[in-house]
Amino acid sequence: MLLENKVVMVTGAASPRGIGKATAKALAAQGARVVILDLREEDAKSAAADLGEGHLGLACDVTDKAACLSAARATLEKYGQIDGLINNAGITQPVRTLDITAENFDAIVDVNLRGTLYMSQAVIPVMKEQKRGSIVCMSSVSAQRGGGIFGGPHYSAAKAGVLGLARAMAREFGPDNIRINSITPGLIQTDITGGKLTPEMRADIIKGIPLSRLGDAVDVANACLFLVSDLSAYLTGITLDVNGGMLIH
Ligand code: NAD
Repeated sequence: MLLENKVVMVTGAASPRGIGKATAKALAAQGARVVILDLREEDAKSAAADLGEGHLGLACDVTDKAACLSAARATLEKYGQIDGLINNAGITQPVRTLDITAENFDAIVDVNLRGTLYMSQAVIPVMKEQKRGSIVCMSSVSAQRGGGIFGGPHYSAAKAGVLGLARAMAREFGPDNIRINSITPGLIQTDITGGKLTPEMRADIIKGIPLSRLGDAVDVANACLFLVSDLSAYLTGITLDVNGGMLIH
């Protein structure tokens, strides 16, 4: 098993059809003890229970630094180590440039970018002490191609920020044996689009995907598994595209 005796935290992992939950399942199947973080405690706990025995579910709003620190503390108290973090929590909005309000901008940047920073800040001191750790940051193809799929320009900007943050952290913490990599999913079938993706939009998008299908959460989960495990021991600061060929560059 790839993650025997490893403890991995996954943010935004309670959504039943989401990338975070699929990732938590893939990690647990490889022997990890998984800590599921999400906005509502009962959702996080029930998602953790779905994985079987020995996992943990905690309430944690990643935009709240104190909540991130307290989740890291609770994880350390229970398991004594933190080997991996998947910065997965994210929200999107299909809003055009001229319509983006201050509230829209703050909401998108707070969860996607500030949340990635806060959770990383919460676990990095532990990983430094351990002299090992792997952090995966969820960006989006939207950051690379300039949006145009579902999220607005503020979402593209926040996800591009995630790439910059991850690369800079990779450089800073490489000497501590902490690897930090990003994933850029294409369009994955989850509930993040809030039912706003029409069959016509879907068919149109598929025309531009060489593998002729939208992605499934498990496609991204397997990429997370690779990046958080020692299979990727010599990779840091990379961006792994999981997009069916939607963007080949
Ligand atoms: P989802 O809506 O199914 O899951 C997102 C989860 O994040 C939910 O469980 C939600 O409760 C949680 N969350 C929201 N705000 C939070 C906060 N402040 N603190 C903690 N948790 C919070 O979405 P998904 O499609 O599984 O998306 C997962 C990640 O993948 C996101 O970062 C998203 O931007 C990214 N992504 C998704 C796609 C896609 O097509 N689905 C494409 C590219 C990138």
